[in-house]
Amino acid sequence: SFSELPTVKPDAAFTLLAAYKTDTSSNKVDLCPGFYRDENGRPWILSSVIQAKERIHADPKVNHEHLPLAGHTELLRQSKELVFGKEDRDLKRVASIQTVSGTGANHLAALFLSTKLNPKTVWFPNLGWINHTAIWKLAGSHVQQRFYPYFNGENQIIDFDAMVEVLREAQKGDVIVLHACAHNPTGVDLSKEQWNTLATICKNTGLFPVFDLAYQGLASGDVRQDASAISDFFDRGNLEFVVAQSYSKNFGLYGERIGILHIAALDVTAAAKITPALTQLSRAEITSCPSYGARIISQILGDLKLYDQWLEDLATMHNRMKTMRESLYHGLLVRKVRGSWDHILTDTGMFSMTGLSTTQVTAMKEKHHIYLLPSGRISVTGLTTRNIDHVVTALEDILGT
Ligand code: PMP
Repeated sequence: SFSELPTVKPDAAFTLLAAYKTDTSSNKVDLCPGFYRDENGRPWILSSVIQAKERIHADPKVNHEHLPLAGHTELLRQSKELVFGKEDRDLKRVASIQTVSGTGANHLAALFLSTKLNPKTVWFPNLGWINHTAIWKLAGSHVQQRFYPYFNGENQIIDFDAMVEVLREAQKGDVIVLHACAHNPTGVDLSKEQWNTLATICKNTGLFPVFDLAYQGLASGDVRQDASAISDFFDRGNLEFVVAQSYSKNFGLYGERIGILHIAALDVTAAAKITPALTQLSRAEITSCPSYGARIISQILGDLKLYDQWLEDLATMHNRMKTMRESLYHGLLVRKVRGSWDHILTDTGMFSMTGLSTTQVTAMKEKHHIYLLPSGRISVTGLTTRNIDHVVTALEDILGT
């Protein structure tokens, strides 16, 4: 009977969120969220999204039919252009399908690659998004999982030499999962030169890259810059790869579950075969995708005024995170809190590693009502001008000077 089922540990991040919600302290601070929070620590609806919604709602007769099996046709075209930085006519060798957000894009990629490419191993960064391994365990259970060195916690940089060394063990057809920008949880990305070296390794070894693109526009503030590794891989013309794109963060549409899976093939004939294969898998799982988020984003990407507003919205989010990084850095410096903190300024996106141990993370919660992930990751979107002093004081207390 089901009473014999093994007990499943609850999800760490969502458990912390629940604990934070029930914490009655007026000083509580949530530094866990993988969601953008505004200056008051609240969810933020982008102005471009509000305007797009007004346009959609202006016609109450908009029906609720299924989207086509591959997704919102116009959005698929717009998304390709946004990710690859070229016009649709130059992107004929890219096959794209709408997915249930970034998680769904990763899932469909794992399902497709594990059966059609038949990799022996999938490689993940030694610190990464924990759901990647869970997704591959579910959708590609016969594929062995290994980790490549990425982040060196001692000096807060990428250990690229070690990464390259370990990847020598990769075999033709193995898959490598990469964060295109704003690496979660470290906030440290490969340089242009390192991406180039990696592209050559992928070509020479036959290693198949999967780019996870969950923060386009939120790493550097520039949508093109944040997808530059993808455009560079594409421009080589001799690499097949996947992009699992999420629109959760850069449009603040977390609950609408909107994402796209792109597969860059070597030629148009291959791309034409990939699309129906993906559609077949997706049909068996979800038939068609949610439509509301797709309509909103398509409105914005298809209208110059709304598009400009979206770029402004991205700048608002990016600038607030940058200001919070600066405030945290200066606070830690002024109080001489033990540790080296320069990386807080140079890390990209929402996250940084503090180097706090799990015991210190627990103490931050129990003594100061400040919530961090057990890994010591903070999300700078949880910081506001009102709580920053409390956070710095708590770090001073826990880490010393
Ligand atoms: N990839 C990474 C690296 C992420 O951080 C996230 C969100 N935490 C996702 C993918 C997927 O998010 P969603 O399913 O909400 O698009």
